[in-house]
Amino acid sequence: MSLNIDLHSHSRQSDGVLSPAEVAARAQANGVDWWALSDHDETSGLSEAAQAARDLGMGFIPGVEISVTFCGKTVHIVGLNIDPDNADLAAGLAEIRLGRFDRAKLVAERLAECGVADAFEGALRHVDNPDLISRVHFARHLLEQGHVKSLQQAFDRYLGENKRAFVPTQWASLEQAVGWIRGAGGKAVIAHPGRYKYTPQQRDALFQAFKDLGGQGVEVVTGSHTPAQYEQYARLALTYGFQASRGSDFHAPGVGRVDLGRMPDLPDSLVPVWRDWIQEEHRP
Ligand code: AMP
Ligand code: MN
Ligand code: MN
Ligand code: MN
Repeated sequence: MSLNIDLHSHSRQSDGVLSPAEVAARAQANGVDWWALSDHDETSGLSEAAQAARDLGMGFIPGVEISVTFCGKTVHIVGLNIDPDNADLAAGLAEIRLGRFDRAKLVAERLAECGVADAFEGALRHVDNPDLISRVHFARHLLEQGHVKSLQQAFDRYLGENKRAFVPTQWASLEQAVGWIRGAGGKAVIAHPGRYKYTPQQRDALFQAFKDLGGQGVEVVTGSHTPAQYEQYARLALTYGFQASRGSDFHAPGVGRVDLGRMPDLPDSLVPVWRDWIQEEHRP
């Protein structure tokens, strides 16, 4: 039986709801053999995650999911097998987190205009790591206060792109993100490409620029993709010579399409991003 490898997940250190150790325990309970925590723009959960994985006898790959602006839209680049102590990576992520704080103030101003008072303080009550405030924390506040009936509705009405309280942000450049990840000894992977609302031309521009910068992989099997998209991005991985990754993008129990480790295997035709790190017979 092939190894169950899940290289994309979130903890309370960004916009997930479980602690890193709780995510580790859930991954192991779901049969995951090798796991990566990949919090948004943040590596502070990795030492707890690594220790928890060791205690559980589960393999661990340190990860991060970096917010990038490319062609005017947000793209997520996952860095795998990174050294979180790398100074350039740490400084770059710290700067992105500051941008999140400034954005959050503006989101709260927009929400106040829409009749949602004190949203900054409200969102902060859902934040575990004061360095990392996300739109998801605003969504949880809106839901808790009865302004919306679901997190999805919070995005559809207020927080999603071009909705009433959407504040555009300039994240890192693609060049910076790939450079930080590679400089920290890691592999850069385009996260959930099926989620971006690019034209085919813009998507090709992203894939080509990413390749030219030294990006190595693309997520093919992810919680954000439909089975048709597994096939579509498998073909594109082969076209561009990218390795392929598999990750649930788990945030919270019962949220999202799939739970930790609960996706199909990568198609056999692809080279997995973990090939140099994990041998098939080699259980942790
Ligand atoms: P941010 O990085 O703060 O802009 O927030 C983006 C995060 O919001 C993503 O990583 C998802 O976890 C979440 N998200 C984005 N769109 C939606 C949506 N339509 N419904 C629920 N969560 C979403
Ligand atoms: Mn998220
Ligand atoms: Mn993402
Ligand atoms: Mn993610």
